[in-house]
Amino acid sequence: MTDTAKFPSHAQIVIIGGGIIGCSTAYHLGQLGWSDVVLLETGKLTSGSTFHAAGLVGQLRSNANVTQLLKYSVELYARLEAETGQATGWKKSGCLRLACNDERMTDYKRQATMARSFGLEMDILNAKECQDLWPIMDGSDVVGGCFMPSDGQANPSDITQALAIGARKTGIKIVEDCEVSGVQITNGRASGISTIQGDITCDIVVNCAGQWAREVGALAGVNVPLISVQHQYMITEEIEGLPKDMPTIRDPDRLIYFKEEVGGLVAGVYEPNPIPWAIDGIPKGFNFTLLDSDWDHFEPAIEQCLERVPALTNVGIKDLVNGPESFTPDGNFILGEAPEVTGFYVGAGFNAFGIASGGGAGKALAEWIVGGESPMDLWPVDIRRFGPHQCDIGLVRERTLDLYAKHYTMPWPFEEHTSGRPLLTSQLYERLKDQGACFGEKMGWERPNWFAPDGVEPVDEYSFDRQNWFEHVGNEHKAIRERAGLFDQSSFAKFEMRGPDAEKALSWICANNVNKPVGSIIYTQMLNTRGGIECDLTVVRMMENLYYIVTGTGYRTHDFSWIKRTIPDDCDAQLVDITDQGFTLSLMGPRARDILAEVTDKDVSNDGFPFGACREIAIAGASVKAMRITYVGELGWELHGNKENALAVYDALMTAGKGHGIVNAGYRAIESLRLEKGYRAWAADIGSDYTPFEAGLGWAVKLKSNISFLGREAIVEKQNAPRPKQLTCFTVDDPAVVLLARETIFRNGERVGWLSSAGWGYTLEKNIGYGYVRNSEGVDRDFIMNASYELEVATKRIPCAVHMGPLYDPGMARIKN
Ligand SMILES: Cc1cc2nc3c(=O)[nH]c(=O)nc-3n(C[C@H](O)[C@H](O)[C@H](O)COP(=O)(O)OP(=O)(O)OC[C@H]3O[C@@H](n4cnc5c(N)ncnc54)[C@H](O)[C@@H]3O)c2cc1C
Repeated sequence: MTDTAKFPSHAQIVIIGGGIIGCSTAYHLGQLGWSDVVLLETGKLTSGSTFHAAGLVGQLRSNANVTQLLKYSVELYARLEAETGQATGWKKSGCLRLACNDERMTDYKRQATMARSFGLEMDILNAKECQDLWPIMDGSDVVGGCFMPSDGQANPSDITQALAIGARKTGIKIVEDCEVSGVQITNGRASGISTIQGDITCDIVVNCAGQWAREVGALAGVNVPLISVQHQYMITEEIEGLPKDMPTIRDPDRLIYFKEEVGGLVAGVYEPNPIPWAIDGIPKGFNFTLLDSDWDHFEPAIEQCLERVPALTNVGIKDLVNGPESFTPDGNFILGEAPEVTGFYVGAGFNAFGIASGGGAGKALAEWIVGGESPMDLWPVDIRRFGPHQCDIGLVRERTLDLYAKHYTMPWPFEEHTSGRPLLTSQLYERLKDQGACFGEKMGWERPNWFAPDGVEPVDEYSFDRQNWFEHVGNEHKAIRERAGLFDQSSFAKFEMRGPDAEKALSWICANNVNKPVGSIIYTQMLNTRGGIECDLTVVRMMENLYYIVTGTGYRTHDFSWIKRTIPDDCDAQLVDITDQGFTLSLMGPRARDILAEVTDKDVSNDGFPFGACREIAIAGASVKAMRITYVGELGWELHGNKENALAVYDALMTAGKGHGIVNAGYRAIESLRLEKGYRAWAADIGSDYTPFEAGLGWAVKLKSNISFLGREAIVEKQNAPRPKQLTCFTVDDPAVVLLARETIFRNGERVGWLSSAGWGYTLEKNIGYGYVRNSEGVDRDFIMNASYELEVATKRIPCAVHMGPLYDPGMARIKN
């Protein structure tokens, strides 16, 4: 089938890599009518990681859209044989997960609720039901489990070949034995590739090179943070009487998984001490190649397998497959257009679930390429979630191995990983550490999550109930509502838009009106062509031709890339990242004005310094941009300055604040404060799937002006149409209930959505959750308010109250109950 006779010199799209991801992307491009596509593969199709995959196909992930992709894989694999004539080995066997302790059961109950939120059936089983489903096991230590009937298994090579057949049928060319050795870039855009057989000019390059994707990315100056890790499974001889229709099984408390294969078992493991591979680079010609079986490393897994399936004692092991696979620092795969190079896309780093993801990931990548925008909110897998620190492969390796080892450990709420830390710290790090800060990590930055009082260890203790920090965060929360608190938010991403057309460019990119007088702060969204919220941030007009832009720590790469790419060609405006130059201290609470007044001689009265204003003031001899805004619903200022002045400003504020009862406070207090006030969080309550109207942010869109802006047409069209979903607030009084997000929303007994964010409101003394109520015929205020609601929490229905508008509003001096 190899078509090397006429090596093309031009194609619209070149895909690098003929594993399941490259072939799926090609297949779906073909389905979208794009046939001027060439797929190049160094060896033969499937000869990378794909040929040695075990072939389990699970679907549930902690994100709704990523789960939809995996769900689509299952639908595709079920029909691919009929469509292409190529057998795929697809078997809808279902997947059983075992629990050997109560905490694991709690996790499964939460997962079952999440699965149902996302439209997948998952049953909770008792120990006997597990045993009945998998009679060959010794279930004496099993307390229960969960079962997803629609999961399955497939033959990875056959699925890939079927996708390749489907792609060829639509006119796509596949060339094997052809390594890409160079990528050409013209004016920041991918424009071609080189091979020993010749060069191909093209508009788009797609890097689907599996564990080679980091090296292929480097050809274009694109960082693809992944490493190769050894991954082993054994194949047993036939086990007498083994039923062919048994579900696949995951046994996380023993770190192992099984699937039936030709009358025997395939059994794999996620070891606590994973072995990285190819630290100095992948050897040339590593195709259809396996690593030597590492029996010593696999030994503990064999013991676990024997205990779980005693019949294995009398069965031989046919093979111990040791294949390298690419893993990433957060356990999710990498998809999308690279921020460094326009027209260079990546689909790689599949963390041993590339077969499960293959169908959906290829479809999403094809649609991303064709549409020029992510087809839906895929933030957890978006390549722009990584930061500059992840160019350091040593760091990437350390965190990736940590995450691999935790593949089957308990996924605790609020879990922080300790590997590779501390890396990026603000000037206040040591000072805050001395005062009991318990740090979390975001984008490599150490950020105080909470402060331990004297005598308390600043260490998180994980559980599914209230955790050890609960009370201390409550005290920080109350201090900010009643007095004042100081947050170190120096990790905020900070940019400047400079140039004669800075205003013109931002007027096009921002949904809110940024053509405001110098000294104005504008809270704004930036929309995609569907009217979805791509960015949610603050823009400050510092001078006629200079804007200061502040966004969340985790969105640095994404937002910078979005803004830079949407600056109109005819605008003379430059975007510069100045994150590393500055500090941010947020002084919040009713006493914030009194404290600020003590450290500056500028007028900070309400008239002299109104909400939404930014002024340069001096604190402790340092020049500081004081921005009167808040994310916690209290009077306050964000103070931005040069990082060398951070300590002096901090000390001055803490000294002045002493008499006003100021406290240090952390990110967990910010979360509970903002939930009470109803401020939205991007990547949770808002994102590219939601319009400002659906999110309750229509007031921040300049539709009343005549200014054209990106996303305006879509928004105008949607403004008067029935809204398919609306962000809504729920509260649960029972303090024994713990809301963590993704709990299902029931309206009049029917599932209508799930919580996008949730937590405890210490002032309200209630659980608070936000989530979209969905209805294809439209959701309005009446639809929301004239109904009764319940939340499903870990499979249990809990009564809840529904609200629109903020629960807490200090301006109105009241709390809504
Ligand atoms: C032991 C093991 C068990 C697994 N079990 C499962 C499982 O049960 N379920 C599951 O979902 N996943 C499983 N996986 C993971 C799965 O195999 C991978 O996630 C998946 O195959 C990745 O596909 P890919 O297309 O990204 O990469 P690959 O299959 O590696 O394809 C990349 C291709 O790119 C080619 N290439 C590289 N550089 C170039 C270049 N410069 N020019 C041209 N071509 C190039 C390579 O030759 C290779 O063929 C398992 C993996 C291992 C190792």
